[in-house]
Amino acid sequence: EAKDGAGVVVAAAPAVGGAGRSVTLSLESGLARALERNEFELHIQPLVDAVSGRPVSGEALLRWNSAALGRRSPAEFIPLLERSGLIVPVGDWVLREACRQAAGWGDVRVAVNLSARQFMGGDLVETVQRALRGSRLEPERLELEITESLMMQSPERAVRLLTDLKRTGVRVMLDDFGTGFSNLSYLHAFPLDGLKIDRSFVVALEHGERAGGIIEAIVQMGHKLGLEIVAEGIETSEQHLTLQKLGVPILQGYLFGRPQANWQP
Ligand code: C2E
Ligand code: MG
Ligand code: MG
Ligand code: MG
Repeated sequence: EAKDGAGVVVAAAPAVGGAGRSVTLSLESGLARALERNEFELHIQPLVDAVSGRPVSGEALLRWNSAALGRRSPAEFIPLLERSGLIVPVGDWVLREACRQAAGWGDVRVAVNLSARQFMGGDLVETVQRALRGSRLEPERLELEITESLMMQSPERAVRLLTDLKRTGVRVMLDDFGTGFSNLSYLHAFPLDGLKIDRSFVVALEHGERAGGIIEAIVQMGHKLGLEIVAEGIETSEQHLTLQKLGVPILQGYLFGRPQANWQP
């Protein structure tokens, strides 16, 4: 990274055929074998009631512990899984494993992130139903997290798919809300159950910006539309207090618990 004269951050261009490319290649061949080698793991992070602190849900976050390459970050390997199409079998495993673990959590829900390929792949409804049947998890205890960019690729298909998914009884949350175009027409066109306000808004609270007003408005909108509102990325008790005052009912962040293996509510 370097700053140009105007203070704009300019990313260095990747060297073609250089070390960057061979690292990507070894990651890709490692990922191709990771499922059969049992190198994937789910870490679960709680979503808690802002007032009582009680967990209402746990988000399943994929971890890859490669025998050859060590622990790799999802930011690095999820785009590679997506690009190679491996996200479909891996995402299927995530769904089954998340439902299996959550079956022992009482009334606490489990949240699973979906990628574009899974969402548009054609048999998502069947995959979800299979995971539910296999684990005997009640459908209303499974929530699927989707993003705006995922729906933007084909809004008409997305509406149909979400409608079909809703018919199975699962919940659907819009993740990273506020980072995309946040097109309000989505909110009335898509049968969503809630919104997760992106961490960047929580961070902005401290800088005396307008984030507080925006969060408050999202909470009010949530009440009117019957949407559950979650804020992500809470790290400090100051943030917790501010978000409680702003009326955000459900919170998620390191302050309440880091993602961890074998989490129990
Ligand atoms: P996300 O769905 O928005 O998940 C929240 C991310 O924020 C997680 O990063 C979580 O560890 C992190 N986080 C939670 N609380 C805090 C906090 O207080 N402070 C900070 N700085 N970060 C916090 P993680 O686990 O690295 O995952 C990154 C992204 O990778 C996720 O963002 C999600 O988009 C994607 N991802 C993870 N697992 C899966 C999966 O199974 N399938 C798909 N398709 N995507 C996944
Ligand atoms: Mg998520
Ligand atoms: Mg999120
Ligand atoms: Mg986020």
